[in-house]
Amino acid sequence: MRTNPQVTKEPKPPFKERRQSSPGLEHKMKIKPQWQAPLYRSANKLENKKALITGGDSGIGRAVAVLYAREGADVAIVYTAKERKDAEITKHLVEMYNRHCILIEGDLSREVFCKKAVNTAFKELGGLDILVSNAAHQLRKDSLEEVTTKEWDLTFKVNIYAYFHLTKAALKYLKPGSAIIVTSSQTAAMGPHDLPDYSATKGAINTFTKSLAQSLIKKGIRVNAVAPGPVWTPLNPADQGAKKEKIQTFGKKQPIQRPAQPEELAPLYVFLVSDADSSYITGTVIPVTGGLPIN
Ligand code: NAD
Ligand code: MG
Repeated sequence: MRTNPQVTKEPKPPFKERRQSSPGLEHKMKIKPQWQAPLYRSANKLENKKALITGGDSGIGRAVAVLYAREGADVAIVYTAKERKDAEITKHLVEMYNRHCILIEGDLSREVFCKKAVNTAFKELGGLDILVSNAAHQLRKDSLEEVTTKEWDLTFKVNIYAYFHLTKAALKYLKPGSAIIVTSSQTAAMGPHDLPDYSATKGAINTFTKSLAQSLIKKGIRVNAVAPGPVWTPLNPADQGAKKEKIQTFGKKQPIQRPAQPEELAPLYVFLVSDADSSYITGTVIPVTGGLPIN
């Protein structure tokens, strides 16, 4: 049967999406992110694996949680208190594939919580094989003067410190064959004027990923980063610094002239933790940018 190809069928701008406060909530979005991946065929690639996914309540994280469940994994997701409803929806979606989903609510800007999240995931899932450090804080600013020290700290705490703390805590559980993925961004390569702090954290994420990958080769643990261009998730409609026009034309500047949908990212997150698919790939930053060359 011929199906409409995903590459041409995904939604294109203009988007009449409503603004939200931060963190954005997927269930409040008018134009829903596509996480279903209807053309994807699962093959039990992650049978009985246990995965911790931060930001698994919504956006890319939700699409990854659902695809991991379809591949036979149990997942634990981290989210903030305001996002409980989104988290419960993800849990329900994972359970539809007869897999467990543990909900871990808290603030990743706190080192103590990062450690607790890893330990809870290990205990409640009965193991830990995969860490997906995917949560991020993003707030656009018109000028550097608007970046307060508090805001700079928060962005670094959530985006890069949490990756460090989660990884350190997970290392006592991860075994040969385990894998770590972090969500980076094309902004690490571009350094957009309105995201000085956010894009700097993504640059740090890329370099930390390369260093970590080198140091974990001897343990048989692989580490890779995914660097998306614009993706249709709650992150941008909830960015208080994003202009209305930015949301309406979101993704238009990519060569493909539209944003990615979460379902177009999630298969790579399966590939990068699947030993059968990517056992020789570690220390890379893989762009998913709709044709924009960033390497
Ligand atoms: P999203 O809003 O759905 O996910 C981000 C998640 O981060 C939230 O769900 C929230 O649970 C979590 N988070 C934020 N602050 C937190 C805190 N203090 N404690 C705990 N959790 C916290 O948006 P998304 O676009 O799916 O984002 C996922 C990743 O993708 C992020 O790393 C983001 O930087 C990256 N990314 C997104 C885009 C895009 O255009 N949407 C582009 C490039 C990279
Ligand atoms: Mg969310």
